[in-house]
Amino acid sequence: MNQHDLYDLLPVFFQNLAVSHYGRRLKARRYTPVYFETLRSLELSAALGSEEVRDYQLRELRKLLQHCYRTVPYYRESFDNCGFEPGDLKCLEDLRRLPRIDKETVRLRGSELISSHYTRNRLIHYKTSGTTGTPIDIYADREAIARKYAFIWHFRNMHGVQRGEPYLSFSGRLLVPLRQSAPPFWRENYTDNQTLFSTIHLSENNLFYYVERINKKPYSYISGYPSAIFLVADYINRNSIELKYYPRVIFPSSETLLPGWREAIEKAFRCPVADLYGQVETVSQIVQCENMNYHIQEKFGIVDLDLSDETEEYWEGEMVCTGLLNYAMPLINYRTGDFARLYKHFECPCGRSGRVAMEISGRKDDFIITPEGNKVGRMSVIIKKAPHLKECQVVQISADTLRINVVKDDYYCGADEQRLLDVFRNFLGSGMKFEVQYMDRIPRGKNGKFKVCICEVKDAGFSESSS
Ligand SMILES: [Zn+2]
Repeated sequence: MNQHDLYDLLPVFFQNLAVSHYGRRLKARRYTPVYFETLRSLELSAALGSEEVRDYQLRELRKLLQHCYRTVPYYRESFDNCGFEPGDLKCLEDLRRLPRIDKETVRLRGSELISSHYTRNRLIHYKTSGTTGTPIDIYADREAIARKYAFIWHFRNMHGVQRGEPYLSFSGRLLVPLRQSAPPFWRENYTDNQTLFSTIHLSENNLFYYVERINKKPYSYISGYPSAIFLVADYINRNSIELKYYPRVIFPSSETLLPGWREAIEKAFRCPVADLYGQVETVSQIVQCENMNYHIQEKFGIVDLDLSDETEEYWEGEMVCTGLLNYAMPLINYRTGDFARLYKHFECPCGRSGRVAMEISGRKDDFIITPEGNKVGRMSVIIKKAPHLKECQVVQISADTLRINVVKDDYYCGADEQRLLDVFRNFLGSGMKFEVQYMDRIPRGKNGKFKVCICEVKDAGFSESSS
């Protein structure tokens, strides 16, 4: 029996204690002296001029490239191949002389991207499927995590909330067992004053209980998957529910915020939605200020564009980023698969430094509707739990049938199909039927973008059209 099965058998009270215990571990990892130091320096430098920002980036980049050349086998080889020495770096544009890497590079040569300065089993490990549905392993050192959280809290403080205030979150963790059919559909992390709502029990019948819990006591903000927060908001709006307590702000995370979601969420909760764009790979962060403009956090990573369009007003292209925080697995000129449109000339009234994005796009996930009527978003989270897939896409072809399109990787074996089906059944319940279809390549959409999830069922709710 694994840890998760054991957790599922505990009474709710003990599950809350287990969640709080895990919360305490995360807190110890994130809020270290490096966190406080970084946060202070971000506050002091919030309004730096663009020249000073570039000087900072250049200094940090030199340090990073030297570290890469000395301790990261992949970069040692690729710098040598193109005749580049870190001492050659004169300006930020010199970065373009170095080759780009993408998710496929990380998938195939990930172990060579880890610095010899670190011991792998002491690093924090993440899995991400990104835009292509290809699971990859990312490792980060502890300082990088603490610094990342300083950026996150610098952003949240901008919107008037402080760490320690009570909040509600909608994340993808399986904290409420799938088979549970009666409330509570949430668990409590007492360490952090956090109530964690399940994102897989959001059926029409259950939404009543979610609202009941929201009305139980005051809280400052909501964070988590916008696809889930939207379902609650939509329920509140459809039923003209007057909440007893309202948040000050809502922080969506991990998904692209669709415009319809923002509108519905702001209406239901009567507060602004402040968006943050980032990735597990920790190569860039773009946040909305109180004027709702998207500021690139230039000290977090260097954002370059692979230009696909340019006008008088903006540049547009795929974001190619170099993260400045993670020294354990540095990603240089990393293709994110996400697109941005950046203003050429724009001064935000907030006065904060950093270029401003007009728009960020990518990673639009659809929902799957289970035969029980539950709407489950972020199929990429499920896909990344399955082994040995090169690409994977989920197509709902009827109310109770899901086709899983799979491109196998070299290590895929007979038993992997069963494992894949187990993962899906675990998340989506036994009422759903699955068909696995093997392909050499999964067809891309009209604009060349990959869709992790396609819903071919009419009237299935809120699925995105083929954008
Ligand atoms: Zn601003």
